[in-house]
This record gives sequence, structure tokens and C-alpha cells, in this order.
Amino acid sequence: MNSSSTTITTASGKSFPRDGLSAHELFDSQLSGGLTYNDFLILPGFIDFPADAVDCSVRVTRNHEIKLPLLSSPMDTVTEADMAIAMALTGGLGVIHYNCTVDEQVAMVKKVKMYENGFISDPVTLAPTNTVDDVWAIKAKYGFAGVPVTEGGKLGGKLLGMITNRDIRFVKHPKTTTLAEVMTPRAQLVTAKQGVSLDEANAILKQCKKGKLPIVDADDRLVALMSLADLLKNKEYPLASKTKGTKQLLAAAAVGTRPDDRVRLAALVDAGLDIVVLDSSQGNSTFQIDMIKHIRETYKDKIDVIAGNVVTMEQAKNLIEAGADALRVGMGSGSICITQEVMAVGRPQGTAVYKVALLAREYGIPVIADGGIQFVGHITKALALGAAAVMMGGLIAGTTESPGEYFYHDGKRLKKYRGMGSLDAMDKGDAAGKRYFSEGDKIKVAQGVTGAVLDKGSMYKFVPYLQAGLQHSLQDIGVKSVKALQEGVYADEVRFEKRSASAQLEGGVHSLYTYEKRLFS
Ligand code: GDP
Ligand code: GDP
Ligand code: 5GP
Repeated sequence: MNSSSTTITTASGKSFPRDGLSAHELFDSQLSGGLTYNDFLILPGFIDFPADAVDCSVRVTRNHEIKLPLLSSPMDTVTEADMAIAMALTGGLGVIHYNCTVDEQVAMVKKVKMYENGFISDPVTLAPTNTVDDVWAIKAKYGFAGVPVTEGGKLGGKLLGMITNRDIRFVKHPKTTTLAEVMTPRAQLVTAKQGVSLDEANAILKQCKKGKLPIVDADDRLVALMSLADLLKNKEYPLASKTKGTKQLLAAAAVGTRPDDRVRLAALVDAGLDIVVLDSSQGNSTFQIDMIKHIRETYKDKIDVIAGNVVTMEQAKNLIEAGADALRVGMGSGSICITQEVMAVGRPQGTAVYKVALLAREYGIPVIADGGIQFVGHITKALALGAAAVMMGGLIAGTTESPGEYFYHDGKRLKKYRGMGSLDAMDKGDAAGKRYFSEGDKIKVAQGVTGAVLDKGSMYKFVPYLQAGLQHSLQDIGVKSVKALQEGVYADEVRFEKRSASAQLEGGVHSLYTYEKRLFS
């Protein structure tokens, strides 16, 4: 940590004022306008610890702590069940979007809550009347051929047998041979009962020398499948975000503030939801205040509410006093967003986060910096300005776990990424439109665009990169935790500096004829 005195004194006794600006000085110059992440830098401090000793854990809502300050945005090109599971396993939190039916959203929340490391909870299954050709089709599409055979061909059907690679390899007439003819019948299958632990299942697989272990309930209905391949590569996730006192992953989902959203929320709470995000671009409204009160009255402390979005202290005060457990901060800072252009309303994200966090801190309410996160450095800056965590859309939209298929354009592998206020998203569902429109609106005014982002690989690699980057960044500042960073900022010990336009150019890659930007290996 930097010296806490306000001056620096040399050996000869000469004194200088502390170098740099305090956060207060940086943001107090309201007359010079709002600032965003690229407009300032944090000055380096003193290092006396390794980067991997940096503790990134934060309290993300009134009642929930997570080990990494990272959230994925409730957007239909960012967070569905796979992303939410990846975020929770690696230490953050995914917020499931609601541009879908209630049933679809409930199924996604359930998938997160039911997720058990190592268990395939929705294995592909077939019926005894299916043919060997159907298994080859599965193999071609998904890459595996270990398929449980059940009554009706569905998960939850009575287990009748098992098909694996070697049962079909030498079948001469795959189109006409049914699975009933070649499967290993139930009587010969080694299975485990629902509730079996990972260790027990591991022991059974080792002992019976099979590649698959079907898991059945008391009525012998198939509930899951385990694969030896997974057990061999099974990783533990020490940072995983869990519901306190349980082994279940923490689940968050977004809803709107209309009467039917109360029905939607009830179904989500039934499915085990822990945190609800009230999704609104301008959250300071009677609709949202009424919704927060409704949630407090109906669910007491059963779920936490993240309200927003807000960018001013006045907006924040209203939502906190209505009962919000955290605030989402940002208006117009998102990469796909055209709100500031069209609505003339919003705020540069740096100032928005600093101001809202300053007020929320007085109430002990965490704030989440939502939108505009382009690099690891932006995460550090958001945290330095008082945010408990950042919410990301575009940065993680092109990963394996984000919804949608990859496609090629100009030789690059891409995935679609679109604003929830884009016409494209609003045409798809009925929910997205509600965030950005009033019911009676005849003309839809878009507040977002549709685009594409580059393939970023899997979240299981990308999140550890963000974590390592953040740890190195805090090490450079000379703080050993996110908590220490924020204490240092509020005590004026962590120092800042404004960045001129030319300083920003200097800080980027420059003067090269060509270069390749690889972020991690
Ligand atoms: P198989 O022997 O051909 O079934 O393949 P492996 O067991 O070697 O690998 C299958 C991989 O696909 C594992 O990592 C599984 O977790 C994964 N997987 C995902 N969904 C399913 C599924 O529905 N069935 C099977 N068998 N594997 C799945
Ligand atoms: P493979 O190596 O991917 O072909 O599959 P396995 O090692 O899982 O299965 C080998 C053979 O044992 C196949 O003919 C299976 O149908 C048969 N088998 C018998 N009992 C079981 C069982 O309990 N589980 C599995 N997976 N296969 C079984
Ligand atoms: P990103 O991380 O891509 O910079 O920003 C993601 C954030 O942008 C989301 O979490 C959400 O708050 C906001 N957002 C998502 N869709 C839209 C949209 O269509 N219009 C606007 N104004 N903001 C959006």
C-alpha cells in the first residue's frame, strides 16, 4: 500500500504533495464533464506479494458473496444456462435473460440449480425402436455414441439398455437394425442410484471398467449419465459461486416490471432462483419501486433484488430506499447501445459508477458496473471507482458457452451479438421490447444494434484469464484484495491521473506496421 501521508518527504527534508489525484479530486471537477474508463489511469503502488495472493472476492448483493467480481449480462446472445453454469463454476454469476417464455426461463434456472459437476443431467437418449443409424447420426452431430435406451426414448423413461461405440461398430445394416437387437440389456447394466456422490460414481466406474454409468431413480427411471471421460478430466472448481449452505450453484435471472413479470418471477423462485435482476434501462420509476416492494413483501429475504439501471445519486437513493439489495449502474455505455445517441440521456460510465457507488456505500449496498467493459483494465477501474463487480455483454458474447452458432465472415469465426433494445431482439420475444418500449408505442425506436463478435474460445479459459489479469493489475496498484483497493481509494491512498487524448494514443499499441494481439496462452 502507498504511504498514507499527504506529502512525500525526501531524505534532505524537502516535501512534495502526494503525486496524482484522489478519486474525489478526479471526479469532483463536474464542470469538466463526465469521465469514463479510458479517461484516467491508476498510479502504481508498492508490491510486496505475489499476484496469485490477490483476493478478488466481493459481496455482490446484500446477501451473496462471490469469489470473482464478474457477471454476465441478461441478453439473449450472452446468458442462457450454459453461460450461467460456466460463470458460477468459475467464480462469477450469470444472469439468465428473459427474452423467452416463462417455461424456457424456468428450465434454464433449473438447469443451473440442478447442475452437478461431472453428471450429464440431460443426456441424449433413444428408444429401443430407434435404429443403429440414429446412433451414428448422434455421433456425427455431437461426437459421442454412449446413449442410454429408455422407454419412450426420453430422459425420465424407464432404463431399458445402453448403446456404446462397440455395440454399433460392426453392425452390417444400420438402417434396419433396431437398438433392441444390439443394446446391452438392463439386466447386465451397472448403474448407480440417484444421489450418488461423484467419488462413489468414480469408484463404480473404475471397478466395472465401463465408460458410462447411467443414474436411475427408485423406479429405475433414467435421471442422468456419467462418463468416464469426464471423471478422468474432472476438475474441481474451488471458486464456484454457491447458494449459502448448499452445493447448488447460485442462480440469477432477469425479469421486467409489468404485472405478468410477477407471475414469471413466482415461477423462477419456485425453480430455486437466488437473485433477480429488474431489467430496465431507466430504473428510477414507480414501476420498479412497486416491483421491489412487491418482492420484499412476497419473498422477504428469500431472494435478493438487483435494481436499476441507474447513473445518478438521486435515482440510486430511490431504489435503495425501496429495498434494493444491489444496483446495476450504466446507461448508454454498452457496446451495442445507441441510447445516448437517440434519447440524449445517459452518463459516461466512470462518473456514473463513482457517484452511485459513493452514495450506495452509505447504505451498505453493492453496485454493479454494467456495460462498456472492453479489457481487464476496465474491470480494475470499475472496481476502483467503487463497483462490487462488473457486468459484461460483448466481452464474453463470442464464447463457446454463449447462445448461438458460430459462423464465418471474411475468414473470421464469429458469433452474433445484439442489443436487447435492437429491433432484431424485440421482434424475437415479447420481453425485450418491454425494457425499451411502452405498451402503446406504435413506432419502435431502437436503442441497440445487432452485430457480431470474434470467437473467444471457452469461458473455462477466458474467465481464468480475466482473473489472472485482475490479480496482476491489483498487484501493480499495490493492493492485496478488491476490498483493500476500495479502502485505499476512499482513503485517498490509491491515486489516479487523467489521460489526455494523446496520452490515450500513447497507451495503446502504436507505431507498428502490423501486429497481432493475442491476450493469453
Ligand atoms: P462416447 O463414449 O462416444 O459416448 O464418448 P465419451 O464418453 O468419450 O465422451 C462424450 C463427451 O460428451 C463427454 O465429455 C460427455 O460429458 C459429453 N456429453 C455431453 N452430453 C452428452 C450426452 O448426452 N451423452 C454422452 N454420452 N456424452 C455427452
Ligand atoms: P465403449 O468403450 O465406448 O464402447 O463403451 P463402454 O466401455 O461403456 O461399454 C462397453 C460394452 O459393455 C458395451 O457393449 C456396453 O453395451 C456393455 N455394457 C455392459 N454393461 C454396461 C454398463 O453398465 N454400462 C455401460 N456403459 N456399458 C455396459
Ligand atoms: P457491453 O458489455 O456489451 O458493453 O454492454 C452490455 C450492457 O448493455 C448490458 O448489460 C445492458 O445493460 C446494456 N444493453 C443491452 N442491450 C442494450 C440495448 O439494446 N440498448 C442499450 N441502450 N443497452 C443495452
